[in-house]
Parts: sequence; structure tokens; C-alpha cells
Amino acid sequence: MFKKFVLTTVLLAIVQTCFCWGFFAHRKINHLAVFLLPPEMMVLYKPNQEFITERATAPDQRRYAIAEEGPRHYIDIDHYGKYPFPELPRKWSDAVAKFGMDTLMTYGIVPWHVQVVLGRLTKAFREKDFSRIMVNSAELGHYIADAHVPLHASSNHNGQLTDQKGIHAFWESRIPELSADKNYDFFIGKAEYIKDPGAFIWDRVLESAAESDTVLALERELNKKYSPDQKYSFEQRNDVIIRQYSTAYTKDYEKMMNGMVERRMRQSIFAVASFWYTAWVNAGQPDLKPLVNQKFSEKDIKEFEELNQKWKNSNGKIIGREE
Ligand SMILES: [Zn+2]
Repeated sequence: MFKKFVLTTVLLAIVQTCFCWGFFAHRKINHLAVFLLPPEMMVLYKPNQEFITERATAPDQRRYAIAEEGPRHYIDIDHYGKYPFPELPRKWSDAVAKFGMDTLMTYGIVPWHVQVVLGRLTKAFREKDFSRIMVNSAELGHYIADAHVPLHASSNHNGQLTDQKGIHAFWESRIPELSADKNYDFFIGKAEYIKDPGAFIWDRVLESAAESDTVLALERELNKKYSPDQKYSFEQRNDVIIRQYSTAYTKDYEKMMNGMVERRMRQSIFAVASFWYTAWVNAGQPDLKPLVNQKFSEKDIKEFEELNQKWKNSNGKIIGREE
């Protein structure tokens, strides 16, 4: 009995914690991005699609193991003034000079970290390093997708300042889990070369920041029309009862947002594929066929397992801020 209680508490904590876009959506975004690639890249990405999909969540798992990881997933951009935040230099060295590293780390660094991982992926392509290409592709997909989530660009990231706690996971986990497979159109077209990846990702972050107000305001409005027992429902998952936003509430919210979650998911998929493609082009379009039969080394596999273990042993306790 006691054991069951402990287990329940732990799982509840995990379910309530932010996974950024949720594990479901991150996997989906990376998985679908593969289909947008040109044949020269598909030859390597298709046989490794499962890895790219599974590894999409590694950066979130790392948040349970390493303190520096947290700020890579968001930017509380409203800390730096008003939209479009001209006081905040877009160039990393200028931003450090103006605000200092501590401030930047406190309020999040996602647009810069995307560019760091893009650099790592480009280098991996140049060196034809199979394992680094795969790992950095998967992780770049994660950070790009996070930059598309409106509440990842707001200091009111979980509605904690406006009595809307829980809205973070509601928007990026509950909604896609309920709707993506059934209702979203994921026919997106092809990856495109991005001339200025820095400007591209800042544009997406600014869109997110602009939409975060809508995300919060619409939920406040809907909340007025629902009693708490209509707003929430209880569902059993693996022996655990979890409280979540009811299906009716979720559907109504989606209607009010007029396809925003679907749109941001589609844009994420396009951006992820386009960044992979851009890295490959900037590396001189290396022939990837010789890498097709390569496998991960024992060292790689050990590293993957270690991260998994750390995450499992963390009891759902994130290092840094909770969402
Ligand atoms: Zn994340």
C-alpha cells in the first residue's frame, strides 16, 4: 500500500512536470521532419528515423541531470522590455557584453543555443561523423521546436503569475496528444535552405513571444465559462490516476486559438528539416551513402543509457525551474 502511494506520488510529479512540447510532440516533430529531406539526405535519415525520433527528448531528460541544461529551452524575452525587444542584442557576444552571462542564463538562451547546435551539426557533416550527425540532428530538432512554443518565450511560462498554473503542459502536451494524430494536417512540403539561421530563429522566437499573450488571455476567458469539475477530468494511466484538462475544455480552447498549436507544430517540422538541410549544404553537401551502414559505438550506447538512467533516477525532479 505504502509502496503504491510512493509510486503514485512520483508519477504524478513526472506527469505534472514540463517536458517542453511534451515527449509526444517532440518525437512527432523529429519523425515527420525526416520526410521533408532531399533524397541525398533521406538515404541516411530514413534508416535512422527511429533514433532521431526517440532521441528528440534527450535534451529534456538532461534537464534532470545537468544544471546548465534548463536555460537552453526557453527565453523569458519580456524581461528585456517590450516587443520586439530592441534592447536585446541578437548577437551572443553583444548580449553578453550588455547584460552579462548570469542574466542571460537566468532568462534563457534558446535562440542562441539553436545556433550552437547547428554549428555542431555542420561540423559533424564536414567530418562525416555518423554518431555526431545523428545526435546533433535529433537535439537540434528539440531546441528548434521549443523555440516555436509561445510559452517558451514568456516569463509567465506556466501561467504562474496569472493563476493559470498548468497551462504550459496543457498547450504543448495535452492538446497535441489529443488532436495531432486525428486532426492535424502534416503535409508540409520540402526543407529549404536558410540563408541566415540566426535571423530565422529570432523571427520564430518573436512570433512565440507575440502569441504567448493570446495563449494566456484565451485560456482566462474560457476558464470563466467552466466549473472546475467540467474543466478537469481524471484518467487512469499505468495504475496512476492523473488529473488533466477535460476533452471538452481542450477542444473549446483549440477552437478559440484557431489552429495555433497545429500551425506551430507544422512550422517546427519545416524549421527542423530546413536546419538539418542547411547544415548539410553548408558542410559542402557530403555524400552520406558511405555512412548508411554505420552503427553507434559502444561508447555512444553507454552514453545514451547513462542519460536515461539519470533521468529515471531523478524521481521527476528537474534541476532549475519547474514548469
Ligand atoms: Zn525542451
